[in-house]
Amino acid sequence: MRAVVWHGKGDVRVENVPDPRIEAPGDAIVKVTATAICGSDLHLLDGYVPWPAMQPGDILGHEFMGEVVETGAGVTRLKKGDRVVVPFVIACGQCFFCRKSLWSLCDATNRDREKLEALIGHAGAGLFGYSHLYGHYQGGQAEYVRVPHADHGPIRIGRGDLRDDQVLFLSDILPTGWMAAENAGIEPGDTVAVWGCGPVGQMTIRSCWTQGAGRVIAIDRVPERLAMARAHGKAETIDFMAEDVYGRLQEMTQGRGPDRCIDAVGAEAHGLGTVDAVVDKAKALVGLGSDRPHALRQAIQCCRKGGTVSVPGVYIGVLDKFPMGAAFGKGLTIRGGQTHVQRYLRPLLDRIERGEIDPSFVITHRCVLDAAPDAYLTFRDKTDGCIKVFLTP
Ligand code: NAD
Ligand code: ZN
Repeated sequence: MRAVVWHGKGDVRVENVPDPRIEAPGDAIVKVTATAICGSDLHLLDGYVPWPAMQPGDILGHEFMGEVVETGAGVTRLKKGDRVVVPFVIACGQCFFCRKSLWSLCDATNRDREKLEALIGHAGAGLFGYSHLYGHYQGGQAEYVRVPHADHGPIRIGRGDLRDDQVLFLSDILPTGWMAAENAGIEPGDTVAVWGCGPVGQMTIRSCWTQGAGRVIAIDRVPERLAMARAHGKAETIDFMAEDVYGRLQEMTQGRGPDRCIDAVGAEAHGLGTVDAVVDKAKALVGLGSDRPHALRQAIQCCRKGGTVSVPGVYIGVLDKFPMGAAFGKGLTIRGGQTHVQRYLRPLLDRIERGEIDPSFVITHRCVLDAAPDAYLTFRDKTDGCIKVFLTP
């Protein structure tokens, strides 16, 4: 089969690889009909998760859907022919964490747990296409995928009138935006500031309104992403290249700061030449630092006293100059983490079915799987107005 394969920093290729097979009774094989490139894939492309955590030959991709073509002997909830969206989190459905609905923290599916424990203390769930720290599962930017624990992830799409592009993002960015808003603890009428107007930021903005925000302010520097936040997200916007974000947010909130601040940027933030951002970049370049948390620092700095900072953006290692003094001094609550996708599948599919949200608005580029290497670069470099790439094998 054809698949998108990682070969090194900045080097992904489409190659012929062996077809996946059923390996355990709980497995299903899904023939992929649609997949996408996520901002999280860019952290792999850009070498933020370097060798040996990524190895040449690893198949990328964690947003995918398709048709079940084979099931293992233990699978009871799915059958051949089912049309399914597959969450990027692989969860057993039975451990202490799954029973608490903390699916992305599943204790049973990460086959690299010792490595991740050594890095961060405890290991999260296995993830599709996401390195030898998260279980080295082959990803979904491929013609076929092996889906382990198939009874505890994929959601069946019963309605034939829903297009793939309307439901695909249940796999990741729609629940991620929803959980980002939920983690922010929005109270009715709150002002929410969202850093990052990429696909995750766009889903977050929409979710903030649904969860009761009175005002949403979105921050980025890419004109078409800011325009989408205004047009589709009905957000007010700040271009961080043109304006001082802290000053502007203070002004917009009568000196109090936004009630809730959401970092939908993550480890590769840009910083407009501020000292902290320049040092982060230099350290990352020479391998002395892993993350560039400029947006997170700014969110903490800007948040009102007693407010909440929600962090859907991915962080990988140890952060420099983390403003713990500000977080403590202002009594902030900070929440984050990988999305517990399984928790949100049913309620969000219900909303899609009722026509309350159609996440396909975020797609700017559609191409075949073979065009993925170019599409990765277009998405990374934000050229050609690219916001989200939808791929079909
Ligand atoms: P993306 O790279 O398309 O978007 C990031 C956006 O942030 C870009 O538009 C960029 O211009 C903007 N940005 C950069 N520096 C900024 C700054 N200082 N201030 C404001 N905006 C800034 O990525 P995406 O697909 O939208 O994903 C965003 C983040 O969410 C990534 O870190 C990704 O890994 C993460 N993510 C997390 C989960 C999860 O489970 N928690 C799931 C999916 C994605
Ligand atoms: Zn993702």
